[in-house]
Amino acid sequence: MSTYIVMLGPPGAGKGTQAQNISERLGLPHISSGDIFRENLKGPTDLGKVAREYMDRGELVPDDVTIAMIRERLARPDCENGALLDGFPRTPAQAKALEEMLNEFDDGIDMVPYISVPEAVLIDRLTGRSTCRAQGHIYHVRNNPPKEAGKCDIDGSELYQREDDNINTVNRRIRVYMEQTEPLIDYYRQKNVLVELRGDQPIEKVTEDLMEAIRGDL
Ligand code: AMP
Repeated sequence: MSTYIVMLGPPGAGKGTQAQNISERLGLPHISSGDIFRENLKGPTDLGKVAREYMDRGELVPDDVTIAMIRERLARPDCENGALLDGFPRTPAQAKALEEMLNEFDDGIDMVPYISVPEAVLIDRLTGRSTCRAQGHIYHVRNNPPKEAGKCDIDGSELYQREDDNINTVNRRIRVYMEQTEPLIDYYRQKNVLVELRGDQPIEKVTEDLMEAIRGDL
């Protein structure tokens, strides 16, 4: 059996940061749907062209496109032992599709860490965030600055502000999360895989809580 972990929480909760912190320790690939879309914007590929208009508005890329992309990604050899999913699923239809995909591999979701953070904190985190061009490593101007301004500590690449990390799009993304993604909290709670974590703590403390929950659960 492989291990599938789904990181759940609003934009800015720290799903990506935490997934980056634990992926290596768990030996699971970090699969961020947002990162894959952003890679496709660079090309730009056909997928990137479709995704851009939704991403720029802070809305969700249609389910069929997103599900096909994740299906392809999970079928790759590096996911042989499972995956750490960040940003997918984001709608009930995506959650159903993920279950069907894992059923095909005779597998299922092992755990859904849900990171909760008050809305005011989310806005501050997203509008102060910078992201590394090469691999999507995440920083924050005050809470988690790079050692050298504008440069990623890990791979030395340029840090930039994501186009959707401006206040208007951030507000839209949070509303979209409430409408379309929040129902998944109850969905996974009922399936007994949800573990709630407080995300408004220092990054290292959240990582510690997350690792403890994973050790106790898997
Ligand atoms: P993120 O990097 O997770 O904040 O995602 C950035 C943007 O990519 C989102 O605002 C959506 O436009 C798109 N996106 C990422 N994941 C999904 C998903 N699972 N379903 C639909 N759209 C997504």
